[in-house]
Amino acid sequence: MNDVVTTPAIVILLGPPGAGKGTQARMLEDRFGLVQLSTGDLLRGAVAAGTPAGLAAKTVMEAGGLVSDEIVLAVLKERLAQPDTAAGVILDGFPRTAGQAAALDVLLAERGQSVTTAISLEVDDADMIGRVAGRFTCAECGEGYHDTNKRTATDGVCDNCGGTAFKRRADDNAETARARLTAYHAETAPLIAHYRKLGVLEPVDAMGSIAGIAAALGKIIERATS
Ligand code: AMP
Repeated sequence: MNDVVTTPAIVILLGPPGAGKGTQARMLEDRFGLVQLSTGDLLRGAVAAGTPAGLAAKTVMEAGGLVSDEIVLAVLKERLAQPDTAAGVILDGFPRTAGQAAALDVLLAERGQSVTTAISLEVDDADMIGRVAGRFTCAECGEGYHDTNKRTATDGVCDNCGGTAFKRRADDNAETARARLTAYHAETAPLIAHYRKLGVLEPVDAMGSIAGIAAALGKIIERATS
């Protein structure tokens, strides 16, 4: 299904590590033709490419801390400047600080835009460490799995593409996940109040099935863009 969004939507996905932001963003991308902008992916790309930004970000990311607003805003601005973003975007993992939220509001205002909707994925903290620590993806197609919640049908073979190589993010271990959760509560959770004040906040119970949460998010985006 590819529902057409008529006005370019700027959708923010807020939620702690493990809440399902990436999974849901990819599903919304397919369904609404929006472009997923994950600052985590952009930063991992910079780390892999060995750029100065990547070199500065690497140790912070490995420790589960937050990369400086300056670096994050630079990689985000560069990606936002690409023409495909005109169709509308889903911001996955951005903003994460009050400074980033304020910079985003300015950046969008310059484009004659504003945040359409900020979806807060509400989950139980207690489950998040286990969710993050068990994740892995197919190295070929990127399909996501989990050691206990979503195993491959045949051990060592991707259900989606038959690939046999898998990878785990360096920061998806219990210790780093705890640091990331702490950073979320200290720096990012307060943004929920910012978006509530702007009248665009949509809290969603994100402890259910992936399909059920995707349906709830779809309804919100349909409503926000109609
Ligand atoms: P994610 O893929 O969203 O889980 O992000 C992985 C890591 O990248 C985070 O733990 C941070 O170290 C860094 N990161 C991603 N997005 C941001 C952001 N908006 N601000 C600061 N650091 C970020």
